[in-house]
Amino acid sequence: MKFLKKIRRRDFFRKITDRTFFAGSVLFGLGRDNRVKNFFVNRLTQEEKVRIKSYRNLGNTGFKVSDISFGASHITDGAVVRYAVDCGVNYIDTAPTYGQSERLIGEVLKEKRKEVFITTKYSGRAWRVKNPEELKKNLRESLERSLKDLRTDYLDAILIHGASESRMKSEDMHEVFKKAKKEGKVKYSGASFHSSGMGNIVKQFFNYDSMKILTPAYNYLNNKDVNEDIKSLSEKGRAIVAMKTRMGAYLERLPGWDKQPLGEDFESLPVARKRTVMDRFVDSGKRFTADFNRSTFKWVLSNPHVSTLIASFRTFYDVDTFLPASGEKFGYYDKEILDTYTAFIWNKYCRVGCDLCHSYCPKGIQVNDILRFQMYYENYGDRRMAVSEYSNLPKDKLGDNCSGCDAPCQKFCPYDIAIKERLLQSHKMLSLNC
Ligand code: SF4
Ligand code: SF4
Repeated sequence: MKFLKKIRRRDFFRKITDRTFFAGSVLFGLGRDNRVKNFFVNRLTQEEKVRIKSYRNLGNTGFKVSDISFGASHITDGAVVRYAVDCGVNYIDTAPTYGQSERLIGEVLKEKRKEVFITTKYSGRAWRVKNPEELKKNLRESLERSLKDLRTDYLDAILIHGASESRMKSEDMHEVFKKAKKEGKVKYSGASFHSSGMGNIVKQFFNYDSMKILTPAYNYLNNKDVNEDIKSLSEKGRAIVAMKTRMGAYLERLPGWDKQPLGEDFESLPVARKRTVMDRFVDSGKRFTADFNRSTFKWVLSNPHVSTLIASFRTFYDVDTFLPASGEKFGYYDKEILDTYTAFIWNKYCRVGCDLCHSYCPKGIQVNDILRFQMYYENYGDRRMAVSEYSNLPKDKLGDNCSGCDAPCQKFCPYDIAIKERLLQSHKMLSLNC
């Protein structure tokens, strides 16, 4: 243990990561290194753990929220939630469509319920109805199911998932919320949104005082359409909870990475494993994931009108590498990282919420949605969700409809994204199980 005294704590984590990577490879096979990593992390004392350093007002709810929050999309290990909460994270974002997420959170946070603000969403399936009565019934059932899975008798907030203007205006939805609020089953309502026309959805919040929580896609590249409205709404007591902060997270495809000595098998590794392998390059002076993630967070938090940001946590390592951005200032080095990244993804990243090319497609293809699903699949590793979302699209709106088209949409993308090629590729990728 003598060497521990000589190294900084962060280095200690890196050494542990490397050692556990090695030990995991030997003892459990390449896919199980997280288990070994978790073994070590769980044995650190509270003082050694990274901690949230800054809390902000969650609008005028009276709740002080950690500036970095737990995005629980498709988590597989409830102990990671518990660890993040022990490190000071106190806002959890989940949804009925996030796999086992609600159930795992319910299992691990029973005793900590009052310390955390839990936000879930109405199931997207609830809206597939023929009449208002059916909609109200579905929304209510979704809410009750979330209460049951989360093992709680109240939700702090429930949001419209992937809100559209029409869903925001749904009087039936507002009625279901009012009733549940009166019964003490939910405190606040709101919406999360990343679809095209995001700017118009934000404006809807001015019409509904009861909708306290806005969760827009908000990052270094996606902000101009909503900045002014976010400021006004925050001044009126609304809570701005930023998501999709990592600009597509094209991390493993940054320039030069392919030239690194990653081993012959690198390309065939699943995304999560690629990240672990790539993480080892931090120690050899290569910047990538950890610094990039923190820089994106610091940029978002440099806006004082943002209450908190949601990051997708999957592993203990995510907690250890994300949380050091809490309370930190966005600086020159961060800008350099984000600008370098921007240059690389400029013509690859379909801006979340953009719809500039949509009206030029004679077939009404929702380019932005399909490329977002592709992002879930390729960059986030959320393959199941990506395929499931894509399978919900009508057949005449799928990417294969681009075949044979002379792509009039193309010249209206200011970022020069190869729309037709990408949509055909998306179809191949996402229609596997359709
Ligand atoms: S390639 Fe054609 S069908 Fe496909 S999105 Fe563009 S205009 Fe629409
Ligand atoms: S392809 Fe370009 S224009 Fe079309 S939605 Fe994406 S970013 Fe906007």
